[in-house]
Amino acid sequence: DRDVILNILGILADLFSVGTDRRIHYMISKGGSEALLQALVNAAQTAEPDYSILLPLLRLLAKVGQRDRKFGRRVQMLEAIDVTLSLARKNLGHHLHLIHCLWAMRVYASSVTAGTTLGINGAMELLFKVITPYTKKHTRTVRAAIEALAALLKSKSNSRRVVHRGYLCGLLRLYQDWHQSDVSNSYIHIRRGLLLCLKHITNIRSGRETFRCARGMEILFTTVQDCLASKSLDSIVTTVTQILRKCYPKESLPLATASSSFSFSPPGSISFQSPRSGPEGKFEEDGEEEVEKDFDNDDPESKEEDDDLETDVNILRSRPGLDRPEKELAQYEAMCAELSHDFQVGIHKGDVLRSLPVTCPRVIPSAAFMQQQRGRGKDQNTKGPRPEPAERALKAPLKGPEKDGKCLGAQTTENKTTGDSAQNEDGLGEEKSSARSCGLMLRPLPKEASWDAKTFNAQFVSCCSPSPAGEVGALDVGKGLLERRQGNIPFHSPHLYMAKARSTKSIPDYTFLALSDFWGHEPPSYCQSMLERKYEVQRAKIFDDIRRLIQPGDVIGRVVFDLEDLDTPDCLKFFSKFESGNLRKAIQVYGFEYDLIMNADVNSSQHHQWFYFEVSAMKSAVPYRFNVINCEKVNSQFNYGMQPVMYSVKEALQGKPHWIRVGYDICYYKNHYRWSAAAAGATQRKSYYTLSFSVTFPHKDDVCYLAYHYPYTYSALMAHLDMLAETRNPKKIFYRQQTLCQTLGGNPCPLLTITAMPESKSRNDLEQFRNRPYVVLMARVHPGESNASWVMKGTLEFLISSDPIAELLRKCFIFKIIPMLNPDGVINGNHRCSLSGDDLNRQWLAPSPLLHPTIYHSKGFLYYLRSIDRAPLVFCDYHGHSQKKNVFLYGCSVKETLWQAGCTVDTAVVTEDVGYRTLPKILDKVAAPFIMSSCSFLVEKSRASTARVVVWQEIGVLRSYTMESTYCGCSHGLYKVSTSRERERERGLQIGTRELEEMGAKFCLGLLILQLKSWPCSKKLMAQAAALLDLEEEIRDFQTQRSEDFIPARAVFAFH
Ligand SMILES: [Zn+2]
Repeated sequence: DRDVILNILGILADLFSVGTDRRIHYMISKGGSEALLQALVNAAQTAEPDYSILLPLLRLLAKVGQRDRKFGRRVQMLEAIDVTLSLARKNLGHHLHLIHCLWAMRVYASSVTAGTTLGINGAMELLFKVITPYTKKHTRTVRAAIEALAALLKSKSNSRRVVHRGYLCGLLRLYQDWHQSDVSNSYIHIRRGLLLCLKHITNIRSGRETFRCARGMEILFTTVQDCLASKSLDSIVTTVTQILRKCYPKESLPLATASSSFSFSPPGSISFQSPRSGPEGKFEEDGEEEVEKDFDNDDPESKEEDDDLETDVNILRSRPGLDRPEKELAQYEAMCAELSHDFQVGIHKGDVLRSLPVTCPRVIPSAAFMQQQRGRGKDQNTKGPRPEPAERALKAPLKGPEKDGKCLGAQTTENKTTGDSAQNEDGLGEEKSSARSCGLMLRPLPKEASWDAKTFNAQFVSCCSPSPAGEVGALDVGKGLLERRQGNIPFHSPHLYMAKARSTKSIPDYTFLALSDFWGHEPPSYCQSMLERKYEVQRAKIFDDIRRLIQPGDVIGRVVFDLEDLDTPDCLKFFSKFESGNLRKAIQVYGFEYDLIMNADVNSSQHHQWFYFEVSAMKSAVPYRFNVINCEKVNSQFNYGMQPVMYSVKEALQGKPHWIRVGYDICYYKNHYRWSAAAAGATQRKSYYTLSFSVTFPHKDDVCYLAYHYPYTYSALMAHLDMLAETRNPKKIFYRQQTLCQTLGGNPCPLLTITAMPESKSRNDLEQFRNRPYVVLMARVHPGESNASWVMKGTLEFLISSDPIAELLRKCFIFKIIPMLNPDGVINGNHRCSLSGDDLNRQWLAPSPLLHPTIYHSKGFLYYLRSIDRAPLVFCDYHGHSQKKNVFLYGCSVKETLWQAGCTVDTAVVTEDVGYRTLPKILDKVAAPFIMSSCSFLVEKSRASTARVVVWQEIGVLRSYTMESTYCGCSHGLYKVSTSRERERERGLQIGTRELEEMGAKFCLGLLILQLKSWPCSKKLMAQAAALLDLEEEIRDFQTQRSEDFIPARAVFAFH
């Protein structure tokens, strides 16, 4: 009955026009969709369809269908698709009827299968007929058709059909027409709908290809330029950006191979083959969705963290056995001379201690045989078989017993190597070592420099020329520079630095020193706040990338640096062959814009993050733009206020030897370069990211250095250690520098001992001296984390200082410090790995004495401490964190891990000392950049082979930590407010070396408070501490907190 139906439809429409979706859902649950669809089919299949029924029905269906998740299936079952399509066909000239059909079709297409059926039955042809050619008549119908088409194109088979029919060009032309005629922006929906069609079509490869052939890139790029100014067109700009990024042809990096320019044959391997990526790689993938992320709400850390938690209680509570024969541990006794030293020979002569025999563990590969390997580039590597030194390394050092403290093993190797190298076809080993004896040169300064005469005299210029005379010239440069030097940088001596750098062994065999490292760095007196992030920056840079593609004529595209300066006129000069430098290639894109490619870690084709290079020949007051195009992390603090650092030599000469934060218009985003390891048999594929920033250099023709973070080289460490030894008070401080082992690259890895001299030679005092608990600290296992070295610098300087707190600390603990666990990585400009291409902080479970000597012996040394019942009270490995702000600790807890994983294991059964939380809590109070809430005590499976977890589990150290320092800045506490200026208040302080060093010192203070609060100690010590620290206040603060995890300090006081 027509009237009944009309009445029901009217009532339903009224019901659904108000109220919530619950009404619709209720109707759907009662079979309402089916009833409506059935009614539609019945009404449409009559000879003379009654539109007074059909129209309200279609309107209802469009409304109900959006909420019905099974609508697509129902539509197909009841054959409503055909019915609706034929209705639409019949009404091509009747727009009121047609638009109703289109609304319904759009909702049908929300199901991909129903959409595909519509496509097979000719829906796209029909819709295309409705929307073309461009007309401003019946725009409501056009809009409905475009929106239906966009919905249909979510189906890939529909997209393919559209491409085959050649509709893509038509859509592009239509978009252009609408764009041109819609001056008043009244038809944004239509324009956006067309873009959505293109967006879906370009999800398939043939769609992207056709789009590019149809000059889609140019058309969209050109048209969108008119839209940038208007905020209301944001949705258009965003969709265009997504399409353009997706369609940008993927390429491999402009390099012959992504592998590092430097290779090294680690002992025991025949030849190293890193996965190669060739230019033949095809990077197109079907369905590759490029989503433009808004990074603001991303927390890169939280993802999948829970899956990674170790939930096996047996694993968590296990204590694995030794990974080596127990008798091997005896060699480390020599590293604990303080335990046996009797102080009978002149207690006041600290030097005696330094002249103690330096024993060398026998299995350690020594420098000598490695020398041969240094400097072997790719080309030499591909030569025929050559004597393999690895085997000798295994055997040779085992010969001969140690005698008179000299490591005979090493000597044997040395002799043998010399003998062998005479037979080598290239005799490279000897050549290189003789080259080294010429010494290092300072980087030349530009001769034509228009530097003002005051700071730059003629004599100076003459000695700066890159004369091959080597050492002499370099010294003169040094002298010349030093005459101009104003003030002294504490704990830095350029001469000492140069001396140390001379004995540093690198793969490229550096012949130059970076002036920044030589001259030294002193933090500026002012603080730098984080950069304000501008919304449009990333978008603008992406458009700039696309402009290069579609306007290739403007691109210079000239390689100006490829490990060597190519001496090209009218451009910046680059250089990076100095310690920790790692620029591989520079390409001039436009007059003042350069693409930069970092070198991969030695023996690897990845791990790009760290960068350090020199630029010169710049103009002043011109913004230079740099794009580092082979970054790897998916996100970066460069998107959240972090800036790179720069050192200007001219500024340094004018008395401002500072690394400072520079750069603006900084952003970090995924680019169109891809890397594929298919050639190596793997299916690994990865995207590269661009870090883009602009710099305006302070002076013309200056020499400047740019880096990811404040550099700290191995030579800087070695020089620093010498200065520490000199400055200390030998009467008070027991200080000893030993060599833990030689690295693969032949550099000594220093091990320090710092504690207070015994009060007297009395038995009691010697006893107290020997019984002090150990604290073991390490840093810089990851070479790119130079922040860790600055924190360590702060720790070391504080520990040898005359500060009364430091004095007290030395009386409480014996510090064993390995300040740089990966010297080779640091020297050769790596970001993550050692020379063997391994991440050394993933080797702790089973380190190889040959491939990971520093880890093998650090672990051996810790094993030794445990074997004599002196496992350290605190172990801490200093790192840098690239995704987070502030400074925080990671520790290990069985209970917290199980809780976090939501484990059903009865955690009440698992007993655990919660003392691991005390130190971070203390640091939260005493160290400004430190934040407790970022600390975590979870044991992740992926971290099972890190120092923190292995030292906790195998050595049994409860307080085993990783300390993570930000590269960026602080977002809380004292350093949240960086300046008095209101606008910068929110942004916080960007961390500098002063704050990092302060953190290192405060860490020590934390250790002292930990000692006082957690263990009984002598009255005298307690009284001294109470006088120094405002302990009363401390105690009150701590008592107000939950304090089950440590003995309250008051109790300790009372006890004594
Ligand atoms: Zn690290």
